[in-house]
Amino acid sequence: MTTTRFAPSPTGYIHVGNLRTALMNYLIARKAGGTFILRIDDTDPERSKEEYVDAIKEDLEWLGLHWDRVERQSTRLDRYADAADRLREMGRFYEAFETPTELDLKRKKQLNMGKPPVYDRAALSLSDDEKAALRTERGDGVWRFLLDHERIEWADGILGDVSIDAASVSDPVLIRGDGQVLYTLASVVDDTEMGVTDVVRGSDHVTNTATQIQIMSALGQSHPRFAHHSLLTGPQGEALSKRLGTLALRDLREQGVQPMALLSLMARLGSSDPVELRGEMAELVDGFDVARFGAAPTKFDVADLFPLTAHYLQNLDYAAVADQIAGLGVPDALREPFWLMARDNITTLADLEQWWVLCRDGAEPLVDDDDAEFVQQAMELLPDMPFDADTWGNWTAAVKGATGRKGRGLFMPLRKALTGQERGPEMAALMPLLQKIRATG
Ligand code: GLU
Repeated sequence: MTTTRFAPSPTGYIHVGNLRTALMNYLIARKAGGTFILRIDDTDPERSKEEYVDAIKEDLEWLGLHWDRVERQSTRLDRYADAADRLREMGRFYEAFETPTELDLKRKKQLNMGKPPVYDRAALSLSDDEKAALRTERGDGVWRFLLDHERIEWADGILGDVSIDAASVSDPVLIRGDGQVLYTLASVVDDTEMGVTDVVRGSDHVTNTATQIQIMSALGQSHPRFAHHSLLTGPQGEALSKRLGTLALRDLREQGVQPMALLSLMARLGSSDPVELRGEMAELVDGFDVARFGAAPTKFDVADLFPLTAHYLQNLDYAAVADQIAGLGVPDALREPFWLMARDNITTLADLEQWWVLCRDGAEPLVDDDDAEFVQQAMELLPDMPFDADTWGNWTAAVKGATGRKGRGLFMPLRKALTGQERGPEMAALMPLLQKIRATG
């Protein structure tokens, strides 16, 4: 059965980049009728925070990316220790004692000689006595996985055939000196034991994938299908990494972005399919195919989310926003007509308030000098409140008859007098909602 996972580290809020990964894995699982696991990668006790675990869940729930199961790496440390023992027994695990400064120096020397900065495996030739001496002097060493120096190949769901020379990669550290299990080992054990069949993640993980494939194979396991999506850049192609902090899902929610707008964009951005607003998750599931994504960096512009949000809201029935509108204090009988009037004139739901304030309190009239007399005359012809659906038509006909004005010269000054703006909702729909008109002139 198809099983995918989204595996965030709870060290911060999730952002649009993480969302892409989460969504792709989610859609693959749902399309196949499989399982979507939320895996919390919390092996780092210092940086992992419970508050971020809660926030990640809240953000995914907001988007409707419901998971079938939650797994936490911090509860599986014995499984990782077990895998480490097996690697040790088969001679694929070795202890190394270099300090970060020593490693840095080695890298610099290699680069100076025009060589790739790959760990030189000096620790492999340490005798037991030398190791014991280093342990006394420096404490426990790190544990590195001994890569087989061969090519590691896989058919990537997005990148196509990938082939990496293991000799160009340093033997990965899987356990730190303080005993902390690192992501690579934990991920390998989890993907295997949880029956993960498909892994989509960012292309920054390609080298990890190569080493993980070898570790899985050393542990006698086949590996999942891998697909590495490109990384997001800003609209100009600039790196987004620094700005991702301001593109947290909760910030977008705060700014009024609608989940389906965000999901519709992220399910298509960087693929050969056009971005189209979808009303339901099921439509995204149906149309999803990871193979349609390209390897080139994907431009992301947060501004694109707002027209999609506006479009989504235009198609929304009153029932979906009834609570929100009641919350504004709109009287019962006016709520649905208010929504139908306002929905074409908002970008986010927060914009509803300004329309309600206009209906409730009236707007400060906007009257050009040239129109002052005309507007004065028109206001005298305005019937008493409450207005109804015919008020605008009847009134403008009467004003036309009295003044001879027509077209834009008739309608625009009246719109500006009543709403204080040049643009806005259909006046015929707005009039019955107006509770107050402010005096002109
Ligand atoms: N916790 C890892 C990350 O957030 C998971 C990567 C993966 O294996 O998908 O980068």
